[in-house]
Amino acid sequence: MTQQVKRAFKYRFYPTDEQAAELSRTFGCVRLVYNKALQERTRAWYGEQRRLSYVESSAALTQWKKSEELAFLAEVSSVPLQQALRHLQTAFANFFARRAKYPRFKSRKKSRASAEYTRSAFKWCDGKLTLAKMAEPLDIRWSRPLPEGAVPSTVTVSRDAAGRWFVSLLCEDTITPAPATNAAVGLDAGITSLVTLSTGEKVANPRHERRDRARLARAQRELSRKAKGSNNRAKAQVKVARVHARIADRRRDFLHKLSTRLVRENQTVVIEDLTVRNLLKNHKLARAISDASWTELRLMLEYKCAWYGRELVVIDRFFPSSKLCGACGMVAAKLPLNVRQWTCDCGAVHDRDVNAARNILAAGLAASACGDGVRPQRESSRTGRSSMKQEPQRATAGIPRL
Ligand SMILES: [Zn+2]
Repeated sequence: MTQQVKRAFKYRFYPTDEQAAELSRTFGCVRLVYNKALQERTRAWYGEQRRLSYVESSAALTQWKKSEELAFLAEVSSVPLQQALRHLQTAFANFFARRAKYPRFKSRKKSRASAEYTRSAFKWCDGKLTLAKMAEPLDIRWSRPLPEGAVPSTVTVSRDAAGRWFVSLLCEDTITPAPATNAAVGLDAGITSLVTLSTGEKVANPRHERRDRARLARAQRELSRKAKGSNNRAKAQVKVARVHARIADRRRDFLHKLSTRLVRENQTVVIEDLTVRNLLKNHKLARAISDASWTELRLMLEYKCAWYGRELVVIDRFFPSSKLCGACGMVAAKLPLNVRQWTCDCGAVHDRDVNAARNILAAGLAASACGDGVRPQRESSRTGRSSMKQEPQRATAGIPRL
């Protein structure tokens, strides 16, 4: 049985000077509205212990447009501004549900600039896309076809740090289910190998990445030598951003292939929840990139599992996956990171990562067996040694001071 899903299709496009100017103006307004609304919400929450709603933020936006110093907000399409408030609403809902950190301000330098247009703010005609306040359609490079007869419901325009423009079209698509299987797999996130599977397979980092990283290091060194505020520094910054973008593109490509394969081959995929670790500041490049890919892989697994009717089990990150002997269930006292292989008192010899991936799989199968979904095809012997209690995440992390 096929299934209808919402799916985003992303393409590069090349704006005319006018379009680029209009979009840059819109990005600026989106950022301003988001930040200003965030400031108001933060003040209401910390000053008066009051939660502002989307409706209140929207009413405030109407007032800002009437004020003299913010009258320029009325010059761009109002839809992306409303969408920014909706995004902020979602960010707060996630924060209050303890799924995310406190929303952060969008910085002109660090955040990706983007604007979201809903149906009323663009025209879709004969495969041509024209945004509100624009006379001409966007010059889109259709690198892959949209589904037959698709009409986008939402359009997101963005510009990355390397100065490239993208448009993402949200469309209905038909998904053909993957063949039935009873297989299950556990994943352990790593740095040297990106992912280790419970089958013993180690998935290495994408090809070329070592070279790209060397290039990145070189570009960053160049950048550090340029005087602050100079033209050359700005150029060097774009160069760094370009290498970053290439690494990210190749990674994404790679992760798409990996996640599709894992979801097609397995009924159940088990991963560890690493969100909390991701909150820690990390300056090591390798670590930062591997954390970013892990987050991305998890998102891909989430939606692809939903598409193909598979189960994704996320287990507690406090589960001692590396130190637990998969053979006898004993937990090793200490296991420094540089120890890649260890021998348990019971005599079992473990590859650190493969053992971790197997424990993650076992814990995940146990967790989902006592959960809501009853899965008859599961082997039931590996239960009883998981510590599945959910530690509450600290919801106060990262709150800006006023
Ligand atoms: Zn053992």
